[in-house]
Amino acid sequence: MTLPTLLAKFLELIFGVTLMPLALLKYAFSNRYPGQPAFGKPKALKSRYDVIIIGGGGHGAAIAWYLAKHHGIRDVAILEKGYLGGGNTARNTAVIRSNYLTEEGVNFYRESVDLFGNLSNELSYNIMLENRGQLTLAHSDAAMRSLRWRAEVNQHLNVRSEMLDRQAIRELVPNLAMSEDARFPILGGLWHADGATGRHDAVAWGYARGACEQGVELHQLTEVVGLKVKNGRIAAVETNRGTIECGVAVQAVAGTCSVVADMAGIKLPIHSYPLQAMVTQPYKPLLNPMVSSPHVHVYIQQTSRGEFVIGGGSDPYALYNTRSTLEMKESLSAAILELFPFLGQARLLRQWAGVTDMTPDYSPIMGLSPVENYYLDAGWGTWGFKATPICGKTMAELIATGKTPPLIKPFELERFYRFEQVNEAGATAASH
Ligand SMILES: Cc1cc2nc3c(=O)[nH]c(=O)nc-3n(C[C@H](O)[C@H](O)[C@H](O)COP(=O)(O)OP(=O)(O)OC[C@H]3O[C@@H](n4cnc5c(N)ncnc54)[C@H](O)[C@@H]3O)c2cc1C
Repeated sequence: MTLPTLLAKFLELIFGVTLMPLALLKYAFSNRYPGQPAFGKPKALKSRYDVIIIGGGGHGAAIAWYLAKHHGIRDVAILEKGYLGGGNTARNTAVIRSNYLTEEGVNFYRESVDLFGNLSNELSYNIMLENRGQLTLAHSDAAMRSLRWRAEVNQHLNVRSEMLDRQAIRELVPNLAMSEDARFPILGGLWHADGATGRHDAVAWGYARGACEQGVELHQLTEVVGLKVKNGRIAAVETNRGTIECGVAVQAVAGTCSVVADMAGIKLPIHSYPLQAMVTQPYKPLLNPMVSSPHVHVYIQQTSRGEFVIGGGSDPYALYNTRSTLEMKESLSAAILELFPFLGQARLLRQWAGVTDMTPDYSPIMGLSPVENYYLDAGWGTWGFKATPICGKTMAELIATGKTPPLIKPFELERFYRFEQVNEAGATAASH
């Protein structure tokens, strides 16, 4: 019997209580139970990899996992300038949904929501998926019309979406202020039963752990500072730890897409804006569905820990900065109090921001770039967390086979030259 177990037994005898934490100390002090590094021991960088993934967020990790697991491509390095999942993956509000407006968008996000459904099993890692549904509110006749439009498109494409009247909303969300005398009275809403949330960090951790188990190397604190282009191809990637050659490279660097693409001489039609969110202290469970109001620019959900997560639209000016502002805190607070006045008593715990890369049509840019062996996973704006699994799957398929999967064909960079934009602006505002 080890010393901590003996001590625990002794205290148990004296005080008559089982001291679990003390009994557990044996795992900490005995070298018979060594800690398991989740992502394998950090290795030295090799001079060449078949595939280099720039960016160790959820997307980068997912691409690596699908490359290794589905296509047997394992000579892969993920290069992350900070730490795994420390970018927008760690900053988002975890909304997962597929009730978009365009056929291309709905089909794409529906597949992602389906993949999320089995992700914990697939990765053997609990991503804490909670199917809570999402309610989008309409405060005007015009909003009612556009939500009806979305409901029609969604139903046609097998996504669960339906219009709710005031009575149904009252029953679904009893705490919502439904007075007809309100500044912005609620006329109806779009109910999306497939809406869910997941633990954002766990998605990145699960994919990265799975990828590393397959032989992928994760290199944190490794920043890409340049891309060497020779004869229209990426010959090597320059990092703060030296230059590495590669067969192909893919960028998955939400928030700095244009900066990294520029290193390969590629201009992206992207403007980057801070997006903020904030969270209250935990309270007892009061709100199950996610509720969003594009009209007053706010959305809210209560986590299983009890915190109310509150977000809205992007900052009004383009900026590379992740500071949070008093103006945004005030405007989010004013908006949410219109809908849930009881939150006037709630205390804010923290506020944060990420940088979001906004495309003109609020859809991503995915696919091969004008540089022959360089792939883009870019333009994820305020909507990319929910796309993590499908993005990993389709980008891996593209890299492995050289063929663009039909699901992501509409999101190629060339659409901006062909004027074939996939306009999701109407389904993105303040719903994420
Ligand atoms: C406040 C907020 C709320 C959001 N809410 C939602 C939501 O509810 N639902 C939703 O679907 N989306 C939401 N989003 C958007 C979502 O967070 C992103 O689209 C998504 O996380 C993108 O994933 P990623 O893996 O591509 O990016 P990231 O997690 O940002 O990963 C990119 C990584 O690249 C690294 N990197 C950058 N440059 C370099 C370099 N030169 N060399 C090496 N590494 C580099 C970064 O350090 C980073 O870790 C929100 C975003 C914010 C900011």
